[in-house]
Amino acid sequence: MKCDVLTLFPDILTAYLKESILKRAQENKLLEVKLLNIRDFASGTHRTVDDAPYGGGAGMVFKPEPLFKAIDFLKEDKEPRKIVLLSPQGRPFDQAMAEEFSHETQRFIFICGRYEGIDERIRSIVDEEVSIGDYVITGGELAALIIIDAVTRLVPGALGDERSAEDESFSWGLLDYPHYTRPREFRGMQVPEVLLSGNHRDIKFWRRKEALMKTLNIRPDLIEKVSLTDEDKKILNEIKEEKQ
Ligand code: SAM
Repeated sequence: MKCDVLTLFPDILTAYLKESILKRAQENKLLEVKLLNIRDFASGTHRTVDDAPYGGGAGMVFKPEPLFKAIDFLKEDKEPRKIVLLSPQGRPFDQAMAEEFSHETQRFIFICGRYEGIDERIRSIVDEEVSIGDYVITGGELAALIIIDAVTRLVPGALGDERSAEDESFSWGLLDYPHYTRPREFRGMQVPEVLLSGNHRDIKFWRRKEALMKTLNIRPDLIEKVSLTDEDKKILNEIKEEKQ
């Protein structure tokens, strides 16, 4: 994944990008992130990036000029780019979109808004508007990080073991199964016997059943969408019968 992030607060992203998987992905050239401070594209001695809203009302509005200038600057190298505006009004980001973005060949530009929002005219040059959920946060920086993180995890080689991404929540359309490590007994709580059995078929079956059970209990809406095998349907019926 290659991306440019337009923000007023690049340090917010720097801290997260220099740790763990995202740090390694950058070192291994699987992820490239360029941070641009939008203030550098603002004019005037004060480099002002916001102004009062036409029509009145609370708060300030992100001015269009510095953003358009920053994007013109990025486009000078002619590399094809997909411009993504982070906004609570966008398409809800989920694992399917992370998957879609992981196959994107164009370089991303993520625009992080602030204040009451960005001057509406920015939408004339945006390819996609993406929301990280139905709530409002202070700026687009966390949203950009969430997207970069989720997409990078799907880039082959970014995780040490490729199976890690395959088994995660939502990758099958279900929540992940429970995980255990040493010690075998902790404060009276035991690791399920089947995980110690060495029987890979039984372990696989147990994990699938646990994933189905968790999803049914916590996110039944996901079960409606996932394509279930005949065995899944059998397991689900068993779970429902056990519940009664
Ligand atoms: N007044 C705007 C509205 O109600 O749509 C919200 C502005 S918010 C305080 C400032 C910035 O934070 C937005 O421009 C956007 O970049 C970012 N932001 C806030 N919530 C977001 C969300 N759920 N998903 C993505 N970005 C978000």
